[in-house]
Amino acid sequence: MKEEIEAHESILELVGNTPLVRLNKITNGFPGAYYAKLEAFNPGHSAKDRIALHIINKAEEQGVLKPGSIIVETTSGNTGFSLAMIAMVKGYQCILAVSDKSSHDKIDMLRAMGAKVYLCPAKVEPEDPRSYYSVAKRIHEETPGSVYINQYFNELNTEAHYLTTGPEIWKQTKGQITHLIACSGTGGTISGTAKYLKEQNPNVKVIGVDAYGSIIKKYHETGEVDMNEAYSYRIEGMGKNLIPAATKFEFIDRFIKVSDEDAAFTARDLAHTEGLFMGYTSGAAIQAVKQLATENEFTADSKVVIILPDHGSRYMTKIYSDQWMEEQGFLKDHPTEQTKVVYI
Ligand code: PMP
Repeated sequence: MKEEIEAHESILELVGNTPLVRLNKITNGFPGAYYAKLEAFNPGHSAKDRIALHIINKAEEQGVLKPGSIIVETTSGNTGFSLAMIAMVKGYQCILAVSDKSSHDKIDMLRAMGAKVYLCPAKVEPEDPRSYYSVAKRIHEETPGSVYINQYFNELNTEAHYLTTGPEIWKQTKGQITHLIACSGTGGTISGTAKYLKEQNPNVKVIGVDAYGSIIKKYHETGEVDMNEAYSYRIEGMGKNLIPAATKFEFIDRFIKVSDEDAAFTARDLAHTEGLFMGYTSGAAIQAVKQLATENEFTADSKVVIILPDHGSRYMTKIYSDQWMEEQGFLKDHPTEQTKVVYI
């Protein structure tokens, strides 16, 4: 009898079960032990593979999706890439209505993964028929059998992390986790993971990372939607100027804000210390740990898990570009970060 070949049936089998890696240097001097959950190890290089796969699988179970069906969403970010990847493997069309503010790199990446991209003007109200919300909604309504992912308001987003990320972390830490630190965008990652972990041990402390310019932290503290808190900022994928239904505030103990500049430099430090080349929000999450350590959040017994949402390669023209950093005014206080290229 021939031995069975060791191969996966498709790339989709590689979604989830991401590694947990001990941080050895960047958390030096902080009490306790620190572990990074590397979501970049998903085949689409981010945590969004988990929600994209879960939502598409559910739609199939409900008989909504048939071969050739259309999947619609309004993001140029990680969710769009994950949806496009899964749509290709499963034989669906993926239509992404994105703002014309999105970078060429991002749009090219989505098209390279087989998605059809509708470029919509950024400078119109959400109710305008040309806005990416309106365009996605219209395609969905006019196309029977299509699925609108709507990640900010989709309960399956949170459920995907409740079913996968939470159990993985519990198992990997052998139930010893004391703190979960995660960025909050739709809030699906932190809420679903927190719900599972708190069901196992209500004492696990869950801390969300928010951006300056986002209304999320204040809403958690006061229940008030304060639009004075909202202004534009540079970190992509976390914080929001609305309250997403996918965020379950009751499972989050507190939020902490980090600045665009600190998050960018901490992402660079993460590469230079741990060899972890991760995205902008990964820098934000580690920056939050640093700030929490100065507030004496951790003790010698702490076992802290930090979710790092995506890979650094998506940010070559942003935080890993000295030119971009210079344009943001970030480099002036960091002379040692100036270009390290040696011209011969
Ligand atoms: N980081 C990045 C890079 C993201 O794209 C997202 C998703 N918007 C998040 C963090 C936050 O994840 P969630 O939407 O599950 O809160």
